Amino acid sequence: MSFEWRIKTILIVILAAVMTIASFQLYHHRHYMVPVVAGPGVTKVAKLSQFCSELKGTAADTNVFFLEGKEKGGKMLIIGNTHSNEPVAILTALIFVENAVVDKGTLIVIPQFNNSGGRNTKPGDGYPLYFAIDTDWGQKKFRMGNRNASPLDQWPDPDVYIHYPEKQLLSYLDIRNTNRTWPGRPNGPLMEKVTYAAMQILREEKVDMALDIHGAETMFPVTNCIVAPEKSMRIATLTSLTAKAMERFDNHVEPSPSGFRGLSHREIGDYSDTMPFLIEAPVPFLDQPTGPKTVDLLLNGQDPFLLSLAKKGKLFVPYNESGWPMAKRVGQHCSVILELMRQFSRKFPERAIKVRQVPRYAEVVKNGVGHYFHNPQKASKDRIYYE
Ligand SMILES: [Zn+2]
Repeated sequence: MSFEWRIKTILIVILAAVMTIASFQLYHHRHYMVPVVAGPGVTKVAKLSQFCSELKGTAADTNVFFLEGKEKGGKMLIIGNTHSNEPVAILTALIFVENAVVDKGTLIVIPQFNNSGGRNTKPGDGYPLYFAIDTDWGQKKFRMGNRNASPLDQWPDPDVYIHYPEKQLLSYLDIRNTNRTWPGRPNGPLMEKVTYAAMQILREEKVDMALDIHGAETMFPVTNCIVAPEKSMRIATLTSLTAKAMERFDNHVEPSPSGFRGLSHREIGDYSDTMPFLIEAPVPFLDQPTGPKTVDLLLNGQDPFLLSLAKKGKLFVPYNESGWPMAKRVGQHCSVILELMRQFSRKFPERAIKVRQVPRYAEVVKNGVGHYFHNPQKASKDRIYYE
């Protein structure tokens, strides 16, 4: 064998080894299931495919938890992991699923809205595949997902994504982004089916408020805020002011732009009777000028590069050595959701939604996020669901 072929053979063997190891890791990540303990308030668990049969048997099908109160009232849909690289969303949604007790009205929670994105990763950015939250009974391990659905589940991408039905031209990648495919259609690409199914829940169940949970870069102005269209603006503003006065955290209101299509806070309002809200918490992990994308950065949000940028006034949120711990982000989201509910119930008492046993900001910061997750080993088998 010539010297050149010897080198080539060695390189092929190294490449094959790397590919084999990586494919096992990615296969495990895609199939790893997170157990969820349905809390005392959960009265039934449906599948998203029950609202759009075209989703049945696909990687986009996902759990829909119903928490129905004894007394009739209003209804709220809570959506987590529209973007699965913003794990503050699934953590907040699961606190509601595992703890909330509804006295009046109904809560509907979809913790893993983009189930395909939740099983995807971003190798080019060196995302960790998993992260773990400390609980009172050990660690609870979650998958770290990606912003968009996996090309394994929806492919190929077009050169340009033409939004349905508004025909706005969007980036090709956004065809796999479940915050660009609203209001969706049953015969469109997979992510349009996902948003269509959610629209069917809103229409069939006559849902009053829809809440899409997110997180965003600290260098992006639309962060630490509630995004609301005209019809939701009053409730959002009262919520923001109350959170600032009573719980001492900032959460400003951003208007939903009417010319930017496909987003939940725009299309839900325009294509149903529901009032939409999108809530954002800062996610330093998503900023570009940071150190390595470690689990520590994901959970604590401490980064020396962001700290120096904060001193130069380049960030849109307060930032110091303590970073942005996950408990602070999840706590803010819990409080904002509860306050949106309270403000809505004051304005429309006949459609009130009354919920107990969900912690507010100060409690989550004090006790940690994991304190509100229950041990699946100790729960009865028929209360365990997998995300
Ligand atoms: Zn997002």
